[in-house]
Amino acid sequence: MQHLKRILVTGGAGFLGSHLCERLVQQGHDVICLDNFFTSQKQNIAHLLELPNFELIRHDVTHPIWLEVDEIYNLACPASPVHYQYNPIKTTKVSVMGAINVLGMAKRCRAKVLQASTSEIYGDPTPDHHPQTEDYRGNVNPIGVRACYDEGKRVAETLFFDYHRSNGVNIRVVRIFNTYGPRMHPYDGRVVSNFILQALANEDLTLYGDGSQTRAFCYVDDLVEGFIRMMNNPDPPEGIVGPVNLGNPDEFTIRQLAEQVIELTGSQSKIVQQPLPDDDPLQRRPDISLAKEKLGWQPTINLRDGLSKTIAYFRGLDLRHYRKPTDHTAHKSSRSRPRK
Ligand code: NAD
Ligand code: UDP
Repeated sequence: MQHLKRILVTGGAGFLGSHLCERLVQQGHDVICLDNFFTSQKQNIAHLLELPNFELIRHDVTHPIWLEVDEIYNLACPASPVHYQYNPIKTTKVSVMGAINVLGMAKRCRAKVLQASTSEIYGDPTPDHHPQTEDYRGNVNPIGVRACYDEGKRVAETLFFDYHRSNGVNIRVVRIFNTYGPRMHPYDGRVVSNFILQALANEDLTLYGDGSQTRAFCYVDDLVEGFIRMMNNPDPPEGIVGPVNLGNPDEFTIRQLAEQVIELTGSQSKIVQQPLPDDDPLQRRPDISLAKEKLGWQPTINLRDGLSKTIAYFRGLDLRHYRKPTDHTAHKSSRSRPRK
């Protein structure tokens, strides 16, 4: 029988966090979901609230908290460019201070702690590092508009490995590539949610740049399976602490994505071009050899099937329950001057 654990999920009410909490609750674990609802709504976890093995704590991870747990999944951080650029200084704080706080807790409780890192560690990858392997050190603009997220997540990885080396904290680090699915915030500005909402409303699909930039899209259920396999994989030397890429290696241009969304929704929408945001990575695709070898993990849901499920979700969503969190768009310039 599986050993039941007390598991903390920070950012547990978010898109990925809510699916992870659901899976862990189904497995019978005692799950604590910690969230300040900056980029999510209670609705994502409403169906779990009455369950005896689920507990919700409204808290901001930049402040320490005292809990007794066996495992921690650290997901708290605004994740879409629109969200993380809304208050960039806070974004860096969330990654850095959030990491320090969960690592301190892990050290005290001797808990295992998994960091939800990101493909943004690689920044705008150079063509000779495509697809991206875990040993690539990246091409990040440290003073650009994405830096609050990219550099914050890079420092978080540094902290994880230093707590591991210096204090023997049992860590796991996964680098997540673009993931999509039900419970994405409808106004997070990410490409999948934007295109689907635009197509369902028969509005123009906003293609940034000429749409030749690429991404590889992973369906949420596959990703959550990868999270759990990574957490449960044995300690070294048999297992690994990471970093490990998790993502779907099927690469598409953003224009192809737009065309597929229009086809699957049967929409009358047209595609219109808008300027490409600064520092927008031109190509991105995970090399998942390490995850395959060490975790026996690879995605099982292709883009067409995943998009169909996501479209069905957004069709049924009552948008009156969601607010646009900000008027900001992803069109911020790295060259803009600071406000006086
Ligand atoms: P999300 O915005 O839906 O979830 C993030 C959650 O963290 C939200 O519920 C938000 O309210 C919470 N949060 C934000 N700041 C907080 C704070 N200070 N204290 C407590 N809670 C806070 O985004 P997501 O897509 O579910 O991303 C989850 C994690 O996975 C993030 O760390 C993100 O960087 C990482 N990630 C996601 C993707 C992806 O494609 N979805 C890709 C790479 C990395
Ligand atoms: N994008 C787009 N139209 C949109 C939103 C995004 O063309 O309405 C592009 C964006 O410029 C980027 C890609 O889609 O090249 C993925 O954007 P997203 O914000 O989803 O994630 P990123 O991988 O850039 O963090």
